[in-house]
Amino acid sequence: RSVTVMDIDFTNTSMSAFLNDSLYPCLAAEQKCFIVTANPEIVIATRQHPDFKKTVQSADYVLPDGIGIINATKMLGKPLEERICGVDVMHYVLEHAAQNGYSVFFIGAEENSNKKAVENAKEKYPGLLVAGRMHGYADLNDEAFIKTVVEARPDVVLVALGMMRQENWIKDYIDRFDKGVFMGVGGSFDVLSG
Ligand code: UDP
Repeated sequence: RSVTVMDIDFTNTSMSAFLNDSLYPCLAAEQKCFIVTANPEIVIATRQHPDFKKTVQSADYVLPDGIGIINATKMLGKPLEERICGVDVMHYVLEHAAQNGYSVFFIGAEENSNKKAVENAKEKYPGLLVAGRMHGYADLNDEAFIKTVVEARPDVVLVALGMMRQENWIKDYIDRFDKGVFMGVGGSFDVLSG
């Protein structure tokens, strides 16, 4: 169930079906999954950067974030069911994690923003287990850092480094993990920290 826009296969689903039939079961089964929430900017970037295109094509789910994608599929005569925003998915993931004892690792944004985003998340989602956090201006390819994240065995890894950088980081390191939902969340920590 997908609709292809410029070589990118978008998952054709609704938010509730995605959460209940894909994401939550993946967490419960301790499986691995890579989610890309793609707006038109991301699709355009895949045309300019072949490596990034491969990264996006390696995702388990590419969700249509932005009305531009929905409109494009309407014009193709194969409309996607629903717009699925990254920030909304992040909210549901955090809520579900807090309610079910899944741990979350927060990577990205400025140190202050990262710290505050984690504090606010703990307040907004009582019981949330934080596996760890790291701001986005450290060397995120440092082996000691990667080991720290891997050994924390997070159920969810949120990566807020801006598009491309965040998806490429996930692509580079997801194989090191034996479980986890991995998702790039753009500037969301700056919002969550506000
Ligand atoms: N960022 C980061 N490290 C970098 C570059 C950016 O942590 O080397 C963070 C930045 O602080 C901001 C987010 O990534 O929180 C980028 O947000 P933006 O809204 O630009 O994301 P996009 O719209 O590109 O997905």
